[in-house]
Amino acid sequence: MNHSDHSTDNGVVEILNKDAKSPVVLVCEHASSYIPAEFEDLGLSEDALKSHAVWDPGAMALTTRMADTLDAVLVASKVSRLVYDCNRPPEAPDAMPGQSEVIAVPGNLGLSAHQRAARVARYYQPFRTSVAKVMAHKAAPILVTLHSFTPVYHGVPRAVEIGVLHDSDDRLAEALLTLAKGMVPYDVRRNQPYGPEHGVTHTLKEHALPAGHLNVMLEVRSDLIADASAQDRMARTLSDWVAQACVRVGADPCGV
Ligand SMILES: [Zn+2]
Repeated sequence: MNHSDHSTDNGVVEILNKDAKSPVVLVCEHASSYIPAEFEDLGLSEDALKSHAVWDPGAMALTTRMADTLDAVLVASKVSRLVYDCNRPPEAPDAMPGQSEVIAVPGNLGLSAHQRAARVARYYQPFRTSVAKVMAHKAAPILVTLHSFTPVYHGVPRAVEIGVLHDSDDRLAEALLTLAKGMVPYDVRRNQPYGPEHGVTHTLKEHALPAGHLNVMLEVRSDLIADASAQDRMARTLSDWVAQACVRVGADPCGV
């Protein structure tokens, strides 16, 4: 990847590998734990600020490696999902959640309509515009969003290791699930640990479904991408898997 080919939009969006050849567009909505100073840590404790409530640990490192391997563009939010969750529409109550799993978010309680609108304008709209522009730049973009999830939720360990999530268009998800048995040495499940009923397919619905573009959301358990070597391994596995799934549905992942 050409790391100098890197731009930001109002300091809240990062676009890597902008002129990449692949039609694959990688998106990482929960890439960052950064909370701008004006929010005073949203009133969170030190422990909460380090937790998965604030971001998806390992997801950006994983997705950056995939952008390199696939020669794909990557769009990421540079601000914590607790400030604005870029995988939620402005009207969703959890776009600025007052509670995340067991963690209360004092700085998000009792927000006025004006405060909510200001966050939408400052953090969500630039992100949305960037993804739309990157998608429009490709003749036939293939949207792949990357997330990580915590291995223990509300005290219950999760067996699923990789989730393949889809909304009404399951073409790419089906291809991935079909290929998984032979090439992915993990516990792979459809629409787990989250699914469309949890509101997590917003980016897919916003940027791929209306135009009929291939799309999928991948959720990786965060303990499997906890350090650089694990992220390298997972990025190679996911990149090969996505590339083969694209071929299976008649798309050329190399864009040549
Ligand atoms: Zn996420």
